[in-house]
Amino acid sequence: MEKIRAGVIGATGMVGQRFLTLLENHPYFEVTVLAASKRSAGKTYEEAVDGRWKLAAPMPEYAKGMIMYDAAEVETVSSMCDFVFCAVDLNKEETKKLEEIYAKAETPVVSNNSANRWTEDVPMVVPELNSKHLEIIESQRKRLGTKCGFIAVKPNCSIQSYVPALTPLLDLGIDKVFVCTYQAISGAGKTFKEFPEMVDNVIPYIGGEEEKSEQEPLKIWGEIKDGKIEKYSGTDISAQCIRVPVTDGHLAAVFVKFKGEKPTKEEILKRWNEFPAVDLPSAPKKFLNYFEEDNRPQTKIDRELEHGMAISLGRLRDDMIFDYKFIGLSHNTLRGAAGGAVLIAELLAKQGYITKK
Ligand code: NAP
Repeated sequence: MEKIRAGVIGATGMVGQRFLTLLENHPYFEVTVLAASKRSAGKTYEEAVDGRWKLAAPMPEYAKGMIMYDAAEVETVSSMCDFVFCAVDLNKEETKKLEEIYAKAETPVVSNNSANRWTEDVPMVVPELNSKHLEIIESQRKRLGTKCGFIAVKPNCSIQSYVPALTPLLDLGIDKVFVCTYQAISGAGKTFKEFPEMVDNVIPYIGGEEEKSEQEPLKIWGEIKDGKIEKYSGTDISAQCIRVPVTDGHLAAVFVKFKGEKPTKEEILKRWNEFPAVDLPSAPKKFLNYFEEDNRPQTKIDRELEHGMAISLGRLRDDMIFDYKFIGLSHNTLRGAAGGAVLIAELLAKQGYITKK
């Protein structure tokens, strides 16, 4: 198969760097254009990143000499690729505008940004959970007046530690969920060097994160009605999100109350164990992985499970106030950011939404 040409907008940032490493030798995609701000335009990728490479893995050789473009040069960038990944540090309005201009230029956008997550006809997808939402793309194309262009987004990184575990239980009638997330500093796009106040510290506030953690699951569980994705209304979620001094990995302590009689622990474990994986190049072979040990999953030990794309669960037990409590863990810049977006793009390519122009 001839590879589909991918552009990366925000290629110099932390998520952009992950995109470039994940797309090296990708079976479906080939990176053909890199863009970021005006500041980077005209430089080689290596020059533009200069001292800002944040990953443990080295900068991919193929990217080093590529010339950077200004993301605002939409026509030029669009002419060099079939679709783009987008992860930019712009405000919500500017991001929304930029993504829509690319979509209208018939260049599909797979986005890491939050700006379009609540646009009613933009699918917010975790391929294992709600691939059906891709059907909304036809309505979106009508609104945008495009033949091929559209926007698809990835949900916030925090929710990937608990929504995958709750989804297989949803039809049992989940009444209430309380979740406390313990989130890595890379979620702020930072390393310890750039975030020294996090050393030996916990910060009990991440701007906007609690609202996203409470609301985004309801869109993932929603249904398409009249060209819009209608939020699921059967469950209330309350979240506290806390920044902790770890490099990567978001851990969640989750409490669940069911509406009727509570299911047995065996029933929950069976549903987790049997929850299907998807057949895509970046997908984990096993999506939900339950650890029997009392001290697992641990952020440092388990975040890389299946290349950081699997979800780790543990400590499922009865709770005195809620019915059950458990722990979830996911890698925030792999499953929760660039890896999750690459997985969406693979699904879009497999289903024919992204093609060669
Ligand atoms: P980052 O490291 O600060 O990188 C920001 C990127 O945006 C850089 O490539 C930068 O290019 C580019 N940029 C800045 N101003 C621009 C402009 N005017 N036009 C075009 N590009 C511009 O940020 P990040 O952590 O990668 O996050 C990027 C996005 O992904 C954010 O929306 C963030 O909320 C989201 N996200 C991050 C994570 C995570 O774990 N880090 C997880 C999920 C979602 P220059 O180098 O040229 O300035």
